[in-house]
Amino acid sequence: MHEKLFTPGPTEVREENLQAMATPQIHHRSKAFSDLYAHIQTRLQQLLYTQNPVLLYTSSSTGAMESAVVNGVKKKCLNLVNGAFSKRWHQITKAHNIPCDALALDWNRAIKPDMVKEKLDSGEYDAVTVVLNETSTGMMNPVQEIAEVVQGYPDVLLFVDAVSGMSGVKIEVDNWGLDMCLAGVQKCFALPSGIAVASVSQRLLQRAEELNRGYYFNIPLMYKYHQKNQTRVTPAISQMFALKNQMDYIIDQEGLDNRFARHDRLAGIVQKWAKKHFDIYPEEGYWSKTLTCVKNTRGISVADLNKELANHHLRISNGYGDLKEQTFRIAHMGDLQVNDIYGLLSTIEDILDL
Ligand SMILES: *Cc1c(COP(=O)(O)O)cnc(C)c1O
Repeated sequence: MHEKLFTPGPTEVREENLQAMATPQIHHRSKAFSDLYAHIQTRLQQLLYTQNPVLLYTSSSTGAMESAVVNGVKKKCLNLVNGAFSKRWHQITKAHNIPCDALALDWNRAIKPDMVKEKLDSGEYDAVTVVLNETSTGMMNPVQEIAEVVQGYPDVLLFVDAVSGMSGVKIEVDNWGLDMCLAGVQKCFALPSGIAVASVSQRLLQRAEELNRGYYFNIPLMYKYHQKNQTRVTPAISQMFALKNQMDYIIDQEGLDNRFARHDRLAGIVQKWAKKHFDIYPEEGYWSKTLTCVKNTRGISVADLNKELANHHLRISNGYGDLKEQTFRIAHMGDLQVNDIYGLLSTIEDILDL
């Protein structure tokens, strides 16, 4: 029996999605493939409330993050950093020798819109990166408000890592004005890892055409095939079968609003539990809807807790990096239901004698 995952990626995958991956392969230049691609495309645009193309990456989310800064920064990038994944984006930007600065905060603090405004007023930047849901800290940054600020600077593009939030919370790409909004499918989509998706605005496409950088993740080249409902390289076809199945489930069976409401409810349950027995790591008002980063105020051994949980075929995550043992993370994302969460929390209470 496998361990049920309450970890913030990979997440628990429903049996029917595993089965979808066993569909016989189709050729990626066939009509059947284009139909599959077009179907997924429409679904992703519905999910993201956008008319923008949503490109498919045969890579994990980090590949899409890399593509944003490579294709989209001409002058200088402002990386908003308040956790491990936003820091990664800064490292990726530096690794490509793209001029950039980090606006770095303590990891328990959210990025506030006026902090961004102050930096952009310098006129130095033409791109901003931000993480919607910092999986390392259980923090949700106010991306809609940040996007409003960025809208005030016509030459500045905004790239959003929505990896552990997409499909769990409502993200309105067009209304908010996001130039890229990306996610891998092994988090809130509740699918096996292997592909990432990213919406791309006209402004980003234009800049990418002008810069024409990179090869595997060259956005204009990806877009050229996208227009034919194809991918430029051989994609992860099995994953696409699962993605189609899951998108149909999310939109037709569960319904987007119900899915967002369920995540809201699960978050409320875990947050209440965490406040009762421990504390919550990030500042109040910015707690994530898809995972809770619990402050280990009781000084329990998180490693031992996970060992005990394994006997019950359950698994949570230790704190990330330096936050190991100081915090632990309970994911309530994907297709987990209220009873799954109650089951986990009561098992933890039994183990810890709470
Ligand atoms: C997991 C995660 C990533 C990295 O994802 P990979 O798919 O492993 O590349 C990036 N950003 C956030 C917010 C994440 O949660």
